[in-house]
Amino acid sequence: MKSYMRMSKLYAPTLKEDPAEAELASHKLLLRAGMIRKTAAGLYSYLPLAWRSLLKIETVIREEMEAIDAQEIQVPVIVPAELWQDSGRWNAYGPELLRLKDRHEREFVFGPTHEETFTDLIRHELRSYKQLPVTLYQIQDKFRDEMRPRFGLMRGREFIMKDAYSFDATVEGMQASYNAEKDAYARICERCGLRALPVVADSGQIGGDTSVEFMALAEAGEAELVWCDCGFAADVEAATVGIAIEEGPGTECEKIATPCEGSIASLAAFMGVSERACRKSFAIIAEDGTPVLCLLPGDHELNDVKAEHAFGHYDVMDEEQMAAYGLVKGYMGPIGADARVRVVADIALKDSKSWLIGANEEGYHIKGAQPGRDFEVVEWLDLASAKEGDACPKCGRALHSARGIEVSQVFQLGTKYSEAMGATFADENGVERPFQMGCYGIGVSRTLAAVVEQHHDEHGICWPVCVAPYEVEIVPLETADDLVWPAAEGIAKGLVDAGIEVVVDDRKERAGVKFADADLMGFPYQVVCGKRAVKNGNVEVKDRATGERVEVPIDEVVAYLSEKVVSQRL
Ligand code: ATP
Ligand code: MG
Repeated sequence: MKSYMRMSKLYAPTLKEDPAEAELASHKLLLRAGMIRKTAAGLYSYLPLAWRSLLKIETVIREEMEAIDAQEIQVPVIVPAELWQDSGRWNAYGPELLRLKDRHEREFVFGPTHEETFTDLIRHELRSYKQLPVTLYQIQDKFRDEMRPRFGLMRGREFIMKDAYSFDATVEGMQASYNAEKDAYARICERCGLRALPVVADSGQIGGDTSVEFMALAEAGEAELVWCDCGFAADVEAATVGIAIEEGPGTECEKIATPCEGSIASLAAFMGVSERACRKSFAIIAEDGTPVLCLLPGDHELNDVKAEHAFGHYDVMDEEQMAAYGLVKGYMGPIGADARVRVVADIALKDSKSWLIGANEEGYHIKGAQPGRDFEVVEWLDLASAKEGDACPKCGRALHSARGIEVSQVFQLGTKYSEAMGATFADENGVERPFQMGCYGIGVSRTLAAVVEQHHDEHGICWPVCVAPYEVEIVPLETADDLVWPAAEGIAKGLVDAGIEVVVDDRKERAGVKFADADLMGFPYQVVCGKRAVKNGNVEVKDRATGERVEVPIDEVVAYLSEKVVSQRL
């Protein structure tokens, strides 16, 4: 028989003060509401309230996976090194990978993701195109030895992930599996109460060609995004956007004294032009040792990820290197630089004819410089980080910027793993072909943190019903009163019978303490049972998220709340 939870028994040790180590609202509130505790850096224990929410998120995931015929399995957390050697990631994956040895000195990894294990699992047993497609998934702890584990559940070292892998015979098949997962991921975000954008992403470590990340919008998010009213959205690292050219003054190439600080802002102010009309120079050493000067519109930054694509693991030049290549800090430019310097420029500047650019001489710039005439650009590349106001690549309108938390990501992998690991099936003609694969990850524990990030106020968490640890809290103000307690208990029982999850604050605490804890834990509805109201046959129902309070007759409150709660369970 289901019953209600008594607050006096609930293991949720709340904290009055904000813990010093927590910066983000979600981290602070999950700690303060007694939902999580740190075991070590990046390792968290989930207490009963957090676990209840996590199980609800998992239920949503399971329902959505079942709806697209993905099947749940469970593979070992630990992966033998040979599988990672097979795929080539044993050497490619950096220090985030936790490597272990057993008593026989055999090497293993603690899986940070499980492409290898799943590919190995099917490679000897999915034999024919007739058995395809297949999508398998699991919900399991992952370990990544993050350089900076932080923000509580947001960037842990051990965290809960749902990871799915699809196996198809053809590229079209893979795309269909991918689209089904992608659509399911959008529904999962929505059902968990998250406002999220699907954004075109960089494929990073996992590889492959097409990928979308679901970004929960939040100021605290680590990702910088641009999005458009037309539906386009992208990570600034992956977006190729339109940047309207603004020309510098004049078209004659001329050296001019610029007695201003060596910054774009001061140069623009001194010249009376926009920052966009200036050209910004970044000097780097590419992975192969080549010195490179990257020229960009003055109001844009060199994007790290795009630069890595173009130059490999590059280093920013130090002053000594700059000096060796004839570059002067604050006044850098292509003219007068050492001939060994490879000059590249952002694609947006390709048609620009009048460049206001450093003269490689302290206190001087060059105006009216024209590529092809006054200096050479050897390559035009997409290098700039997209930003607010740049043109949408789909419709041309001005982009907005936002910050987001990556809660999930879907990838089309193609044959990257199947080829490396020799995972093949026989097609209609009996020809062995590598599987077309996709992989799909959801940060389950990160999703919980993202929900709190989007649903809180200065008093605590405001759980959306769908993932709330409990749906209703009953707050009897005088537990000893011979009217109040029976009323509270009667409502609790009635709600439980109606299938609603209830906590009753049965503690002999002051009203202020109970209200503060109720707001902190943030269950969606509070039923306040005060002596006077109960005497008149009423209780007060507070909607935690809106703060709205209504008096409801005791004999109607179960129906009133059932209607509200059930309609919001997505
Ligand atoms: P990030 O860029 O934030 O490090 P990622 O892109 O490396 O994440 P994926 O490999 O795409 O992560 O993993 C799938 C999902 O797992 C992510 O979308 C995220 O929600 C979650 N995740 C990844 N790393 C962590 C972590 N350190 N802590 C909590 N969740 C994580
Ligand atoms: Mg990712």
